[in-house]
Amino acid sequence: MTERPTILIVDDEISNIEIMNAILEDDYEVCFATSGHQALETARNALPDLILLDILMPGMDGYELCGHLKREAMLADVPVIFTTGLGDTEDEVRGLSLGAIDYVTKPVQPVALRARVGNHIQLKRMRDRLAEMAVTDALTGLSNRRRMEEVLRLETARLARGSDWLSVILLDIDFFKQFNDTYGHPAGDRCITMIAAALNRALRRSSDLSARYGGEEFACILPGTDEAGAMVVAREIGEQVRKLAIPHERSGVAPVVTISMGVATARCLPGMAADLWVREADRQLYLSKAQGRNRINAMAF
Ligand code: GH3
Ligand code: MG
Ligand code: MG
Repeated sequence: MTERPTILIVDDEISNIEIMNAILEDDYEVCFATSGHQALETARNALPDLILLDILMPGMDGYELCGHLKREAMLADVPVIFTTGLGDTEDEVRGLSLGAIDYVTKPVQPVALRARVGNHIQLKRMRDRLAEMAVTDALTGLSNRRRMEEVLRLETARLARGSDWLSVILLDIDFFKQFNDTYGHPAGDRCITMIAAALNRALRRSSDLSARYGGEEFACILPGTDEAGAMVVAREIGEQVRKLAIPHERSGVAPVVTISMGVATARCLPGMAADLWVREADRQLYLSKAQGRNRINAMAF
């Protein structure tokens, strides 16, 4: 794994690529392409942090390529700097209106190119960090509710194409108000963090998602998992939480911290709303609470 940002240089003239590479190679991983089609291919594979893009190229020109990049979800946020020999304001404006972030005129000035590239890379990193923070729960590092709902929406659409299973588990810490009252809020925070880690240990597939759904509530999205599979995961979560053995002298069910769970499972069909699973899981969770807590209720609908 390299820490250095990657820059993709696109230019049909090798000599231009060589000049820019010489300016940037000390600070960046540089890859290059000599045509629009090759550039798309390389960009998809390398996921660069920035693209330096020539306008005039035979076949697909820089404008057209920029349009393609901006329409691809994985590449749309990669900053594009046009490199133009034209020195023509109209061309620059057209490039910027297509979503390019900046332009440099050829022949490039090494100091100016380095400065502009450095600035845009730094801004891109900051944007990425903010975007990641916006979907991450600060206390536990799990996905937050926003990302969970986004993933659920994407997964229901994807799974519906194959009428595949989807399960959702909601879980809630039992008597957590009493835990806070007894041990203090900071201890409550540590408890939430430990439960989050236990949850991550119980989930094994890379497509599974664990999220902090609310204060002391968590959610798991299990794509391609039927009811039996979801029960295995829920029991494993329960087992991992039991292993933590966090003392809770004022719990009404056990001398340690316990959780209640609700599991909802259904085949995804086109048009099914993503929140059906959450609503059913919530109903099952409510049943688990009503029946005395520290248990699992499941429903396939
Ligand atoms: P039940 O068994 O029915 O779930 O009872 P409960 O006490 O766990 O549920 P209730 O919803 O009444 O209380 C939840 C408590 O969780 C109240 C709130 O102060 C606490 N809580 C929510 N978010 C946090 C947090 O981030 N940190 C801490 N320490 N406590 C939190
Ligand atoms: Mg609770
Ligand atoms: Mg609660």
